[in-house]
Amino acid sequence: MTLPIPDKPYPDWSRLLSAVWMHGSSVCNIDPNEANAAVDRAAESIRDSIVERNEARNIRPSSFVACGRQAYFMLKGEEPHKMPDNIGSTFAVGHLLHELAYAAVKSAMPRGILVETERAVTLPDWWPDHPAFNQSGHVDMVLTVTDIEAALPFLPKDVIKRHTQMLVDFKTMGSFSVRKHGKAVFGDDPDAFGYTAQLAIYTDALGIIDNGALLVGINRDSLTKPIIPRWVTPEVLKSEAQRIKVAFEMAIEQTDPGEEFLVRHGEDAYFFCGRKGKPGYCPFRTICGENATVTD
Ligand code: SF4
Repeated sequence: MTLPIPDKPYPDWSRLLSAVWMHGSSVCNIDPNEANAAVDRAAESIRDSIVERNEARNIRPSSFVACGRQAYFMLKGEEPHKMPDNIGSTFAVGHLLHELAYAAVKSAMPRGILVETERAVTLPDWWPDHPAFNQSGHVDMVLTVTDIEAALPFLPKDVIKRHTQMLVDFKTMGSFSVRKHGKAVFGDDPDAFGYTAQLAIYTDALGIIDNGALLVGINRDSLTKPIIPRWVTPEVLKSEAQRIKVAFEMAIEQTDPGEEFLVRHGEDAYFFCGRKGKPGYCPFRTICGENATVTD
């Protein structure tokens, strides 16, 4: 059952999406056909997550873009660290929650707004045509106003005019990360896993970078809580796209950019880069540390 018409339109895409997700997640409103399709797709992804390794072997929008030195090491032929052997359940849960979110949003989105999920995307012109780079990708969701009159009770006219389309990327997170996500300053805080970079690449590929994009946190520890959609501005996305272009040019000509992420974020990067006794999550933390250019 779709979302009822509100007393006044939701002020932006973020709040409309939250309301749609909450409404569509209810057992009273979910469309059984959408639920069936989601469960079938999830079953396959869950199985793949737990019987196959999940490491990226190429540079792609979701991997090796957070720091210029990651792309440099990839093209140099350095081996990234492997993920833990038992990481599969985490990915499996992520796939399941993505599919359930798709089913909820498709069930409840009002008429006049098209919901596309797992849409295939051809990467932007500037994406390197190089064997170390994946040449295609998928976005979680694209929302498009297809009937302005039908959408008007749900979104203000100026929002529809400015942002007829909106890219949505869901991330499943634990409670700690959800809290950080809720107050993150995009473009300033360390984006260790390249979330904004990924959005920059895909919005540019789709020609909608000027609309910004929604990065949506799903709290996997508390699934009755609302999702947290945050709008990432066009300015942040354009600046990220520019940074990635330079990083790729340097990687291809094999110019070492040094510890780009560490230089940008200082102490805040230690946790990800594995410096100063911190664990480190970057898949190149060892080789990077052995070739340190940044000293205290
Ligand atoms: S350890 Fe930090 S600085 Fe080094 S490659 Fe990884 S993200 Fe970049």
